[in-house]
Parts: sequence; structure tokens; C-alpha cells
Amino acid sequence: MTSIKDNIANINLQIFNACQQAMRSAKQVTLLAVSKTKTSQMIEQAYLSGQRAFGESYTQEAVEKINKLQKFTDIIWHFIGPIQSNKTKLIAENFSWVHSIDRIKIAKRLNDHRSSKDTPLNVCLQVNISGEKSKSGVTVGELYDLVNVIQECEHLTLRGLMAIPEKNASSQSFEKMQQLFIELQKLHPSVDTLSMGMSGDLVAAINAGSTMVRVGSAIFGAREDK
Ligand SMILES: *Cc1c(COP(=O)(O)O)cnc(C)c1O
Repeated sequence: MTSIKDNIANINLQIFNACQQAMRSAKQVTLLAVSKTKTSQMIEQAYLSGQRAFGESYTQEAVEKINKLQKFTDIIWHFIGPIQSNKTKLIAENFSWVHSIDRIKIAKRLNDHRSSKDTPLNVCLQVNISGEKSKSGVTVGELYDLVNVIQECEHLTLRGLMAIPEKNASSQSFEKMQQLFIELQKLHPSVDTLSMGMSGDLVAAINAGSTMVRVGSAIFGAREDK
């Protein structure tokens, strides 16, 4: 078995090569290490290899790990999972970023629970780009209603868009996301993040302009997802 450190080096090399191929600077792409279901010890190993941004999907489990790892004050925690409204307080209090906003109600609740003492919560809106019934995310048609609500939330900063495209149609979906991202960026100067690409498709995502790849199993090993 390879170590977490080797895996991170390997993924960073894949990101670097994909950026070269796409004629982009590797500085434009951030690696988000998705540590859901993995232990705080494993996160610490990744941290000691230089990794700083971590993504979590399950609130309770995440908050326990965030508390255990408090001494690493420069970890940036991103919430990337489906959001239940009764979890918005914990999410607003413990995370710097949320990628998975797909409803007006959730946006408003996160805003209400973010304290004015804190910096605004960085948010990406999740788009159901492949139009799958089972997937979370706003439809393209609903996107701008949600964008307008975010703009009115003083404790939220709109940073961009997130998608989890269907496995096979991925490069087409990535290109659609890129178009949406470019349009949104023209209207809102705070938008700088296109969160797409996972362990299996990060090269295609970087080709289509992704600025943040969310990589779990290729760093921490396979999971039994809940
Ligand atoms: C679990 C998860 C990932 C990581 O997936 P891997 O295939 O393990 O890299 C990325 N994004 C989201 C939203 C996830 O839930």
C-alpha cells in the first residue's frame, strides 16, 4: 500500500501535468483532500505532507475531527455533502467553505447562523448538470434565482459552482459547467471557483477549467460510502 504522502505527491503531479496539457498554470488548481469516513490521524498525515484544504460530507463526523485537529489552525475545512436544514448551524459554525448549496432555504439558514464576528462563509452552488433525478443540485434554470438570494446574504460570499457529473457523460457536462462558470464570473467579480473533478476524472475536469478538484479515494484509499 502506498502512503498518504506518496498519494498526495502523485495527485499533485497529475494536476501539474493536466494543467500543462491544458496550457494552464498549476497555481490555478487547488487540491481539496476529501477525508470523509477517514480518521483524524489520516488527516494529520496529509497535513504533515503539506495538504491544507480538506473536504467533509457528514456533519457530525466532520465536527468531531475538526475539534480534534484544532491545533492545526491553518487547515481550511470545506463542506461538500448534502445539507439537511437541521445541520446548517453546525456547518456555518465549523466550516470556511460550503460547496453543496442547492436550495434557497439552506442558503438563508447558513447566512443566519454565520456570526458577524466571523469572516463570511465562502459558498459554491451545486448544479445538477447531468439532470439526474437522484442527484442533488439546482437545475440550470433555477441557478440564477439562487445566485440572487446569495447576493443578498451578508454573511455569504459567492465563490462559484460545484458539480458531480454523471460518470459517462462527464466531459460534455464539464464543458457545460465551464460555460455557466464563465457567465457567472462576468456578472459577479467574487466568483473564482469551479469545483469539479474527483479521483477518476480530474484530468478531464482540469481540461474544462476546474479550479478545485475534490479527491478522496486516490489519497486516502477506498471507502465504504454511507
Ligand atoms: C466523496 C466525494 C468526493 C471524492 O470522491 P473520490 O472519487 O473518492 O475522489 C468528491 N466530491 C464529493 C462531493 C464527494 O462526496
